[in-house]
Amino acid sequence: MKIKTIRPIFVTQFPAVFEQGVLYISEEFETAGHLCCCGCGGKVITSLNPARWNLRKEGGTVSLSPSIGNWNYACKSHYFITKNKVVEAGQFDAKKITAVQRRDRRDMEHYVAVVNARAGQTPEKAPVPTAKKTPEKSLMYEVVAFLKKLWKT
Ligand SMILES: [Zn+2]
Repeated sequence: MKIKTIRPIFVTQFPAVFEQGVLYISEEFETAGHLCCCGCGGKVITSLNPARWNLRKEGGTVSLSPSIGNWNYACKSHYFITKNKVVEAGQFDAKKITAVQRRDRRDMEHYVAVVNARAGQTPEKAPVPTAKKTPEKSLMYEVVAFLKKLWKT
């Protein structure tokens, strides 16, 4: 583990860019986020609710339980955050990895849904891309039209 300790910062919403070694905690949105402690730069989002992760605050330190398994990233790192310390844990098997990947997706969806709900918004649909004419194509079209005109005359 490149990151041995993590610094908790309490925020309302996550910043666009995460800083290495910081655990962003949004109690309002019941979510925490940090960059993978191996140093790979992978963004790790964890839901803070009794069914997922429990955040324990003790004298300026935080602990997250259970452990964090980053199977979506090449590093597949697995660690505990205990009193701001990053403690490496053992590997999981393939079945467990699949379950964790599903959970990670749901956690991200949960965060987005809660943020949208608190902001009084319904989730926005992705804009439908409009077909763009490339200048090369329209230019070619004009040339062809011009040549056709020439032929006729
Ligand atoms: Zn990593």
